[in-house]
Amino acid sequence: MLEVRNIHKSFADREVLKGVDLRVNKGDVVTILGRSGSGKTTFLRCINFLENADQGTMTLDQETFELAHVSCQDKIRIRRKTAFVFQNYNLFRNKTALENVTEGLIIARKMPKDQAVETAFQALEKVGLRDRAEAYPHQLSGGQQQRIGIARAIATQPELILFDEPTSALDPELIGEVLQVMKQLAQEGMTMLIVTHEMNFARQVSSQVLFMDEGVIVEQNPPDLFFDAPQQVQTQQFLKTLR
Ligand code: ATP
Repeated sequence: MLEVRNIHKSFADREVLKGVDLRVNKGDVVTILGRSGSGKTTFLRCINFLENADQGTMTLDQETFELAHVSCQDKIRIRRKTAFVFQNYNLFRNKTALENVTEGLIIARKMPKDQAVETAFQALEKVGLRDRAEAYPHQLSGGQQQRIGIARAIATQPELILFDEPTSALDPELIGEVLQVMKQLAQEGMTMLIVTHEMNFARQVSSQVLFMDEGVIVEQNPPDLFFDAPQQVQTQQFLKTLR
């Protein structure tokens, strides 16, 4: 469904991604682990054109693009197939939960308002927040705000959701409710690419776990193998630091 090959990205003279390859099949839940600064977020952002890669190709639904030369129209088209869930939720502070979900549907997707509202209510229902539709972000907990962020992603009916450390801004007691929603999405077959530091979640939910180190993927395996018998020294050292 999605294949990226040889992605490179530098900021000034610092090369952050040094040739990253990834293949995600429909229904896969792929988690990306790695130390702070290893390039995980940059990689995710390059897939969604929040950053422009310097080099590499992306194949999505049998169409292949040279990432350094994607037209604005193609970027919009590719973006519509994906949705991004941000670490800090990125909600409009002056809009209700419902409006946060409908905004993109009405403005970017040109969906009629009635249909957008119905779609948004379904998405809010899915994350357990239909009854908070009229609340503003400041009236919601961090966990609830992130669930609105996930509802906004689901509502666009993406083929793939990219999650960038979705629970790392949350107090520990609020993490579970967000992971629960993500687990439910995974069980329903949603294709997901997730940067996370939640090891138990990665073990329970992933179909593949990737370890990124200094801008390259050094190991990729199903979760049992990844956690119980890591093959690469870098992965072994990383997992040891967590014990
Ligand atoms: P973390 O787990 O801490 O979020 P990460 O693995 O996601 O780390 P990135 O956020 O991708 O790492 O950052 C990789 C490197 O690129 C870091 O050294 C960071 O400072 C640098 N970097 C990221 N974005 C930019 C930017 N817009 N401009 C300059 N440098 C950047």
